[in-house]
Amino acid sequence: MSAKRVLITGAAGFLGSHLCDRFIKEGFHVIAMDNLITGDLRNIEHLFKLEQFEFYHHDVSKFIHVPGELDYILHFASPASPIDYLKIPIQTLKVGALGTHNCLGLAKAKNARMLVASTSEVYGDPLVHPQTEEYWGNVNPVGPRGVYDEAKRFMESITMAYHTFHQVETRIVRIFNTYGPRMRLNDGRALPAFIGQALRGEDLTVFGDGSQTRSFCYVDDLIEGIYRLLMSDHPYPVNIGNPDEISLKDFAEEIIKLTGTQQKIVYRPLPKDDPKQRKPDITKAKELLGWEPKINRSEGVRTTYQYFKALPHEELFKQPK
Ligand code: NAD
Repeated sequence: MSAKRVLITGAAGFLGSHLCDRFIKEGFHVIAMDNLITGDLRNIEHLFKLEQFEFYHHDVSKFIHVPGELDYILHFASPASPIDYLKIPIQTLKVGALGTHNCLGLAKAKNARMLVASTSEVYGDPLVHPQTEEYWGNVNPVGPRGVYDEAKRFMESITMAYHTFHQVETRIVRIFNTYGPRMRLNDGRALPAFIGQALRGEDLTVFGDGSQTRSFCYVDDLIEGIYRLLMSDHPYPVNIGNPDEISLKDFAEEIIKLTGTQQKIVYRPLPKDDPKQRKPDITKAKELLGWEPKINRSEGVRTTYQYFKALPHEELFKQPK
């Protein structure tokens, strides 16, 4: 029997590259697609020698053509960190809207099952805590983060419409903050920012008073949850994240302890519309997928720190693309 074929968009990014590794390991033929706007080919270069791997340099907001059959499509292309999507807001809206539409059209034509990468940002600055999938969110459509949050909300709507009206098999994962090797040190997210500052011998910057919370999930746990959701028969959104919540101030202190840096925490004004708290309710993932995170923060952060520490020294000073 020939190998199942999966298309992964955003394949050169942080999560996309880990998905490529996982699907190769499971014996799939992986078709990776990326326009490298925020991604890096180094994340997948180890796969280029494999016969069961191919790469298309393509913008998925434009028409997508993939020859041959497809069994699955995972749509992960999108700028994901505020630093990126505030710099390229129109491309962010386009990849969430047009990119998703193109992928769904492809899924319909190929009779493939499609999973889209949604986000906890669809809950905005949540008024319900922890966030269950039933919560509709609190998003400011014209605020600075609206370009990302609304793109993802549209993505969910059009995905559900293709499921309902065209009977395309679809899955929606709502991903909460995830971390691990292959994140970019300069992507502005808390963990790489803190570790980068510690490695450069700078003070650690906390926004606001640091009481805002996040819940960080290690990448291997997330990939397992996504794989299980794809193989499940559940078309409605499912939260995948680690409910172990921590304030950003406490998190910065954990990084100071881990890295042994002599630097201190400095406080800066909170960006507009920054969510005050974030914690997934993962009851659905537990019940439907038998999934829960296995890797605790201290283990995951240590592994990620080792990854950043081993990078060439100049990476520490690289500016965002
Ligand atoms: P990333 O920036 O590392 O990866 C995104 C990839 O998509 C990059 O390689 C980029 O070049 C590519 N891309 C962007 N626009 C494209 C386009 N128009 N055509 C082709 N490729 C394009 O980000 P990530 O953290 O790996 O996030 C991947 C997906 O997961 C995104 O859809 C993001 O919204 C979602 N997500 C991530 C997190 C997280 O914590 N990392 C949380 C929630 C949701």
